[in-house]
Amino acid sequence: MRKQLARLDPVVFVVVALLCAATLVIYFHHRALTALNRQTTVILQKVAEQTAATAALEIRDAFDGPVFNTLASITHPSLVAGRLELVARAYDEGLRTYPQVERFFVWTQRTDREFPGEAVFYGRDAEPFDGNPRDGVGLFRPDPELGREIVAAARRQTGAQQIYAAVPAAIDGVDYDIFLRLYYTGASRDRLLAVLGFVVNLSHVRTALFPEVHRRYLANLLEPRDGSPPFELRVLDTEGRQVFGPTQPPHRISARREFSLQFYPVHEIGTRMSATLPERRWTVMVSPRLSEPTGLPSTLAQGYWLSGLSVLLMLAALVLAIKTSQRAAQLARMQSEFVAHVSHQLKTPVSLLSAVIETVTLERVRSPEKLAQCMAIIRGQTSRLSALVEGILQFSRVSDRRRRYELEAVRLPALVRETVDAFVAAVETSGFRIEVADDGRTPVVAADPAALEQALINLLDNAIKYSGASRLVTVRVGVAGSEALIEVVDHGIGVRPDERERIRERFYRGRGAAMHRDGFGLGLPISTEILAAHRGAIDIEDTPGGGATFRMRLPLLQDAAAERRRFAFRARWRSELR
Ligand code: ADP
Repeated sequence: MRKQLARLDPVVFVVVALLCAATLVIYFHHRALTALNRQTTVILQKVAEQTAATAALEIRDAFDGPVFNTLASITHPSLVAGRLELVARAYDEGLRTYPQVERFFVWTQRTDREFPGEAVFYGRDAEPFDGNPRDGVGLFRPDPELGREIVAAARRQTGAQQIYAAVPAAIDGVDYDIFLRLYYTGASRDRLLAVLGFVVNLSHVRTALFPEVHRRYLANLLEPRDGSPPFELRVLDTEGRQVFGPTQPPHRISARREFSLQFYPVHEIGTRMSATLPERRWTVMVSPRLSEPTGLPSTLAQGYWLSGLSVLLMLAALVLAIKTSQRAAQLARMQSEFVAHVSHQLKTPVSLLSAVIETVTLERVRSPEKLAQCMAIIRGQTSRLSALVEGILQFSRVSDRRRRYELEAVRLPALVRETVDAFVAAVETSGFRIEVADDGRTPVVAADPAALEQALINLLDNAIKYSGASRLVTVRVGVAGSEALIEVVDHGIGVRPDERERIRERFYRGRGAAMHRDGFGLGLPISTEILAAHRGAIDIEDTPGGGATFRMRLPLLQDAAAERRRFAFRARWRSELR
């Protein structure tokens, strides 16, 4: 238990350290995001305020426009000369430029002759102006009620000596703002020469004006610029009711700016006005457009996925590191076991040999029988030693990445019979019956015959070693689908299911192998490696009734012509750590 704890401690330590590191990463990430969020909010707020201020100015500029640009462009002399077509031309231009103007109007001595006591109008329903000077009053339309109201309002101002006036009017339930520019005949300013001006329909302002103003003057201003997101604009009336803008609630970041809903430049002409309208304070509200990314990471998915990913990567790296270190430790353990085992295997024959040689050298061997006995020992131990060395060399050859296998078309039944015969002749198999069985077919495979023989010999060797009391080993050759099979079937101690994978590893010896001192845990890995290099594999199964069956599988060589073809390929030792 203590041992286990000691082994676990560094792992626990690393896990805890990693969790701390992950917590720190998330904490700092959170702090950085919060700071970024705050900064972005401040910047956006400032940009929104700036945009709202500019929007309010733009609106004011647009609403002030007709007074100077349209009315002031009509000169006193042209009015004196009664050039109504020039007035109409200026109004035509004014209507196109200023959507807030419903109609312009004019009153002069000349219009008064045709429409006494009324101003006449130039509105959006006017005939398209073609600049014909003969049209005169005919270019304008009467609207008796509103026209009389205008002339009456103008006359009311004459005593005041001022040239501008703004008055309200309500006709047929429609509210108007009327702006007047008065012209007098003399310096005394008591007789009117002309009255110019325009009418703004206030219900039109509420329902339809701002979309047009937005399109003409504000849309550009709200577009994204210098990395800032796009903005949207709302217009609220004196009571705070929204008259223009998106219906959904605005973003939490928004800026408001009041503007005066007057359709004349009150600051510039205030001193020259005889009547003004009460000031109306409306508001523009500017906020980032919600459907667009604002650069504010507000949700976990937006803001923290990067941290999450890095923590996941750290955990994956940790798992890999633990696995690799466990594997390395296991490999080191297996190798030291191997060294111990090999030394042990070497010690016995070496000490036996030196004892016998010493006996012979000191001439203690008295009889020829004794000498023959000694020589037999020397022969036996020498061949054991060379078997050991051969095993180790074989392993190093097979595990050499640069090893090349010389492949040729091999008829398996013949190869198996020859190998079994050679094995029986070379190895001590007395008492054993090794049967070879085939199903009459002749599977052909592409193989390096020497390597394949080696693989089979290792399996036969094991079958004999681990046969226990049984004395029968069967080698079957057959075909299954597109594969050729060689099965080595014994009736010995068998392989435990939980060891079937591990015994393919280098130096690993099964628990049942303890009583068989010969062996290094290399035979099966060598065979496995040879089969893998031939694009085959070895399956391990129980023999019915007890024992183990090792089945070598190899792809069949389908093409008969290929039998004559020789080819080679480089075998790969897939991973040093396998
Ligand atoms: P070894 O030199 O130990 O025989 P191998 O690599 O050939 O090494 O085999 C690895 C292990 O597989 C053996 O130690 C043994 O536990 C098990 N093994 C191999 N062949 C057999 C078999 N025919 N029956 C039972 N166990 C076997």
